[in-house]
Amino acid sequence: MNAPLTNMQTRDVEALLHPYTNAAQHRQVGAHIIAEGKGIHVYDERGREFIEGMSGLWCAGLGFGDEELADAAAAQLRKLPYYHLFAGRSHEPAIELAEMIKDLAPGMARVIFQSSGSEANDSQVKLAWFYNNARGRPEKKKIISRRKGYHGVTVAAASMTGLPYNHLDWDLPIDRFLHAGTPHHWREAEAGESEADFSARLAHELEEMIEREGPETVAAFIAEPIMGAGGVIVPPEGYFEAIRPVLDKHDVLMIADEVITGFARTGEWFGSDRFNVRPTSMSMAKQLTGGYAPLSAVAINQDMAEVIEAHTGEIGTLGHGFTYGGHPVGCATGVAALRIYKERRILDHVRSVEGVFQAKLRSYLDHPLVGEARGVGLIGALELAPDASGQTAFEPGGKVGAKLSAELAERGVILRNVGDSLAFCPPMIITEAEIEALFAPLEDALNVTE
Ligand code: PLP
Repeated sequence: MNAPLTNMQTRDVEALLHPYTNAAQHRQVGAHIIAEGKGIHVYDERGREFIEGMSGLWCAGLGFGDEELADAAAAQLRKLPYYHLFAGRSHEPAIELAEMIKDLAPGMARVIFQSSGSEANDSQVKLAWFYNNARGRPEKKKIISRRKGYHGVTVAAASMTGLPYNHLDWDLPIDRFLHAGTPHHWREAEAGESEADFSARLAHELEEMIEREGPETVAAFIAEPIMGAGGVIVPPEGYFEAIRPVLDKHDVLMIADEVITGFARTGEWFGSDRFNVRPTSMSMAKQLTGGYAPLSAVAINQDMAEVIEAHTGEIGTLGHGFTYGGHPVGCATGVAALRIYKERRILDHVRSVEGVFQAKLRSYLDHPLVGEARGVGLIGALELAPDASGQTAFEPGGKVGAKLSAELAERGVILRNVGDSLAFCPPMIITEAEIEALFAPLEDALNVTE
């Protein structure tokens, strides 16, 4: 028997349709309503404290209740609460943030703002198409992403996403979108295949796909440096080093979706730095503002910038942009977040606790329910499986993972199960003692999940 819904829970089910939620079940169980946050903790409507081990949705990298971020947003709200970047207008927070992004992201020449990761990736698709039209290559439009990749939920972004629920009953993916293999060595490698050989095979299969489609029809390849919502899948050794020459050979743009991996999460400013890949463009969101305001950005390299800018001169305008793209409050919050990452030496901090965090994750490998432990920096996952072979899985639907995350919530830790992978992405301000506290209830929760 479920407990009767509180007044707030009843209001919730009558008023909201929740994303990524089974609505019928939600009506029975009711929402977990979060009221406040401070540091790495959030507090629910009943005043119970939780460690937020996922930074919300991979975004609150500076934790909750940061006064400096709140002050930056409030000051901008008072000074200029709204303005836009259309038709020749601009404002200083957008200019300053774009400059800061360019300083951190090597090779990036221009920044165009949106409000969400999905809008950033939709913009990437449109910019790739616009770029190829500008270059007189109207056929070169197909976009290759990867199975288990996550790029958002708008029509183009969801078409690039390679997860079943994002396609099922949504009539997606639309034409022009193709999916290549998942770089998950533990699950996908052949018997005896080394990480380097597996990477070489995936690059070869990608090249076969491009050649089969016709290189003159393929515009771009999009990849998260670490797949997040697909289960925190860290690329095998040599993966991006093997992929990049294939893209170069066929003049295919490389889009890095840094929406989760941007801004110190992996122990480098960007996941692309961590995995030695130089993309032609990058999508950023989430930790761009520490999650304190909705804002996303697409950064493009010099070649794309020159071609696109020249083409707007020929046809008259860049027919793209959002009312809230580059919102001054979002940009001022982003400026403050990037300043804080530097002033509080967040990158050094992530590097200094990475060893403890990653060792902790791997210490559960002995548990009979854990098949693989993986991650870099302050992001990782435990994949639950009947054994560690990589060949077996619990029945589809992620029931085991869901049970584990429910048991953890009972014990004061919020973590998200992606199917049967338990994802970890704590606020990057987490201390070693807090890492201990984050993992403290895990053994117990695993034991009752068995
Ligand atoms: N790209 C990646 C890698 C993401 O993880 C997400 C969201 O989790 C998105 C894009 C979509 O971002 P949004 O939910 O802000 O549209």
